[in-house]
Amino acid sequence: MPDVLTTCCYCGCGCALYLTVRDSRVVGAAPSRNHPISRNNLCVKGWHIHEFIHSPARLTEPLLRKNGELTPVSWDEALDATATALARIRDRDGGRGLGVLASAKCTNEENYLLQKLTRAVLKTNNIDHCARL
Ligand code: SF4
Repeated sequence: MPDVLTTCCYCGCGCALYLTVRDSRVVGAAPSRNHPISRNNLCVKGWHIHEFIHSPARLTEPLLRKNGELTPVSWDEALDATATALARIRDRDGGRGLGVLASAKCTNEENYLLQKLTRAVLKTNNIDHCARL
């Protein structure tokens, strides 16, 4: 199979790279020569991006702690539990009880929506970005 041109998912720079696929497994990554962002370069995360794809440590489904044990659940159950917990904290402690970290892996539009959710629904200005950790 030929190498697959795609966009690096690690950060918002949007470098283009080729994934090397052998026997239905992604085994390597290399930068796109002509892409206006990456220009034949990748940072260390981009060069190693293929390593998580087949990792047995990769989380592939939501986990919810039940009776002290992390238990696989559906996305609906995970989202309901998260929304319920956030609402409970907001109603009990107000905005000072919550904080949100946006992600470099999100698009600008997704991060915009996250700050709207944080300020309008969670009632707090406690929002920052993972790049400032
Ligand atoms: S290669 Fe590095 S700089 Fe480029 S998008 Fe991926 S993480 Fe970001």
